Amino acid sequence: MTATAPITQDVMTIPRKLPEGPINLVGLTRVGMRTALIENGTPEKQAKMRVGQIWQWIYQWGKRDFAEMTNLSKAFRADLAEKFIIEVPEVVTRQVSEDGTRKYLVKIAGGHEVEVVYIPEDGRGTLCVSSQVGCTLTCSFCHTGTQKLVRNLTAGEIIGQVMIARDDLDEWPEQGAPKDETRLLSNIVLMGMGEPLYNFENVRDAMKIAMDAEGIQLSRRRITLSTSGVVPEIARTAEEIGCQLAISFHATTNEVRDKLVPINKRWNIEELVEALRAYPRVSNSERITFEYVMLDGINDTDADAHRLIKLIEGIPAKINLIPFNEWPGAPYKRSSGNRIHRFADIIYKAGYASPIRKPRGEDIMAACGQLKSATERARKSRKQIEADAGL
Ligand code: SAH
Ligand code: SF4
Repeated sequence: MTATAPITQDVMTIPRKLPEGPINLVGLTRVGMRTALIENGTPEKQAKMRVGQIWQWIYQWGKRDFAEMTNLSKAFRADLAEKFIIEVPEVVTRQVSEDGTRKYLVKIAGGHEVEVVYIPEDGRGTLCVSSQVGCTLTCSFCHTGTQKLVRNLTAGEIIGQVMIARDDLDEWPEQGAPKDETRLLSNIVLMGMGEPLYNFENVRDAMKIAMDAEGIQLSRRRITLSTSGVVPEIARTAEEIGCQLAISFHATTNEVRDKLVPINKRWNIEELVEALRAYPRVSNSERITFEYVMLDGINDTDADAHRLIKLIEGIPAKINLIPFNEWPGAPYKRSSGNRIHRFADIIYKAGYASPIRKPRGEDIMAACGQLKSATERARKSRKQIEADAGL
């Protein structure tokens, strides 16, 4: 097993508003956009209405050019174009898996890269969004956790991932079109790179845009935030975002969880479970998803299944079993199919849904826990080559 580094959330945070040059409107809250417009000469009395109009053009109709915002005066559009930009991350590569899963490598400010994965299913689909470049946590079974470089994404870079996926899916409705009932991008999961609750404000602001009735218009029931267990932020997630919650549980004793999910050393299983009890009530979510990665010989015994049931007793829950997805150099193996089914069966008989997650996009390294930016991989392998050569 890999040694665990100290748990830290010290990451580079870049300011939302750059001191010079045009301001990117993508990712600003409604209040933030209003302030930016007023500071740049929009009369206070008009500002709220202008925000509503610009907001709809950007998030409901997917426009990136002020010239297309035809319900604004020409002079105002020209003025906006001078002072503001509408910018989303740049797609560097786009890979499509045999099973239709799409993986985008996107470049953000500073030349950093993150991965975004779109998983289609029966005419709908889930977008797996990243919240950080890399992750400060070092879960021993997760590829992202081995990436050294870490920075928080801005709200614009987070909602920008949703916008580029909608671009690629060609899914921006025409202005005035009736609300689309079925969407290719129907769900968002914050299960990409990073720990979303270590970047709370930016994740919250981005998800508010995703849920906004004049924004991306996804119901909060279709947005799931996955956390490794940042206990002090869980109540806040219920109050300020109100989306569905998934917990990377992965073990039933503190001894094992300390090794798999090292944040457990700061907030252990008992503290985590206590924080979860209030969640569904406060957020109006139906139930909490417990994610459980199946690692051969580590956390997959019948006794583990029974302990899990006991631990979560009384919490409306669904247990999502994730067959371990391997990555180069990973220190674990996937539990056998029989073992996973037996484990699922015990949980199911105790009255909980226990779906086994089908690995998607494995051929393009897009499955859960396999994400790690390509540049970082390239750098690591060069280093490895040098080490092998004794340099
Ligand atoms: N940082 C957040 C969200 C990103 S990880 C979290 O940890 O919850 C999304 C899910 O994939 C988590 O449940 C994570 O534990 C799981 N995961 C990580 N590496 C994995 C791997 N190699 N195989 C299967 N699941 C993995
Ligand atoms: Fe970070 Fe989540 Fe991976 Fe753990 S499982 S290292 S918290 S991304």
